Amino acid sequence: MKLESFEALFLHELQDLYSAEKQLVTALPKMAKKASSEELRQAFETHLEQTKGHVDRLDQIFKDLDLSAGRHKCKAMEGLIEEGSDLLKEDAEPAILDAAMIGAAQRVEHYEIAGYGTARTFAEMLGHTSAAELLQQTLDEEKETDQLLTELAVTTVNVEAQNESEL
Ligand code: FE
Ligand code: FE
Repeated sequence: MKLESFEALFLHELQDLYSAEKQLVTALPKMAKKASSEELRQAFETHLEQTKGHVDRLDQIFKDLDLSAGRHKCKAMEGLIEEGSDLLKEDAEPAILDAAMIGAAQRVEHYEIAGYGTARTFAEMLGHTSAAELLQQTLDEEKETDQLLTELAVTTVNVEAQNESEL
């Protein structure tokens, strides 16, 4: 693809995020299924529903701007998910796996936070005000999820993982 303009770069960012979100809609149920902590499972399930909303927001932006989601594949998200699923195949205690999954999920959230921050700023600069607002809404949800995962890690999951090792 040719990135001949700032507008084309904006579209590329949107298509990359779209592919990333679509991959997560498939990956999150698997993570929820593997989670032993009830709170962690709940967090993954809640974020799955939010993630479907993120896809819908991007669909809305493509529609409003008369753009296409295209067939671009986000290789970074593919790699993050692959690393996460490799971890799930390890022979590990449930509490250790939960801690590992939080680490993997936060890598995903941070990637999304970077992508949405970039796309939101591009939308603002290009005068796509409603797109910028939709991207900001998703950015806020990704940040909230990241914080929730940190809280879960430090209050419960990492503590249980450490206790498991000391048994
Ligand atoms: Fe997302
Ligand atoms: Fe997310």
